[in-house]
Amino acid sequence: MINTKEKYPFWITEIDDCYKMLSEIKMGEVKTLGFSAGKREIKYVTYGKKQDYNRTANYSSACGAFNPSYYANREGKAPTLMIVGATHGQETEGVAAIMNLISLIETGKDLRGKEVPDVMDALDACKCRLIIIPIYNIDGRARCLPDSMIDEFPEGLRHYGQGRWKDGSLCGYPECKRIHPIKDASGFLGSYFNDDGINLMHDNFFAPMASETVALMKLCDDEAPNCVIALHGGSNTTNELLQPDYVPKYVNREVYALATEIAKNQEALGLKTHIRPIPEDDPKTPPPFNLTTAIHHVCGAISSTYESNEGLIDHNAFGAEEILLHHYCLFKGMFEHKW
Ligand SMILES: [Zn+2]
Repeated sequence: MINTKEKYPFWITEIDDCYKMLSEIKMGEVKTLGFSAGKREIKYVTYGKKQDYNRTANYSSACGAFNPSYYANREGKAPTLMIVGATHGQETEGVAAIMNLISLIETGKDLRGKEVPDVMDALDACKCRLIIIPIYNIDGRARCLPDSMIDEFPEGLRHYGQGRWKDGSLCGYPECKRIHPIKDASGFLGSYFNDDGINLMHDNFFAPMASETVALMKLCDDEAPNCVIALHGGSNTTNELLQPDYVPKYVNREVYALATEIAKNQEALGLKTHIRPIPEDDPKTPPPFNLTTAIHHVCGAISSTYESNEGLIDHNAFGAEEILLHHYCLFKGMFEHKW
């Protein structure tokens, strides 16, 4: 059993540990987002004043009036930024990074006991409203016994992530998506899914199947964030922002610009970089209208999925601290970007 916290005490990703930290928050406000299929409480934290963007219409209607400021008039207002952890329960890298960011904000030091002045200076300067959901798919996180995939074999990731079919074979990626909800077809439900076997990335966003989806869409609509970044793990990828599909091209250009700024932060620390290009107009197969896309369409946010390296026993494995530093580059980029 992988226990990364034993070796790296800053790797706080278990629900009890995270929620204990949330219970000690003084600078921010802790609220309930909603409840999962498994009736677990999903909490979130806010820092900074909620922005009043003088809304007179929902996002679709504002765009129909050719003026998104009817939905959110951001003129002269501080940005609202949102970070979502663990949409997939075994992808704990973002949870660890989030808990270190919360520690930085609350105490001035991260869970390594270190100050990270460039991230904190950027946060102070941006004066944003910051919304953090440490563990979105809390059912999946509860089901995943290891606290990371660092030093795990790729087969282990597939077991804990996508689970196993009834015959015991690994569901794997992307075949785990061919039956949805997967619950009744699975022999072992992976941490990708909530307790109903729904992959929150692939809900039916026009008639949501999951209470988690309804709660997140409501929060996004209520807060109208300028930017929403969901923190995922993507095997041993070099950390990168994915490009959303089915969004206006300016959204892709903004994601690309943010990725370029993050890459500069990574280079300054001697870390590897990878910038995902803006997608072609005509992909060979239709991409999914997924959670990232849905978030943009409910509130107009620049919405992207951040894929972290998971430190698997495979080529291009990053260590725990390296993974954390990459996330700091992302957070700094979000705080410094001109929204
Ligand atoms: Zn994921």
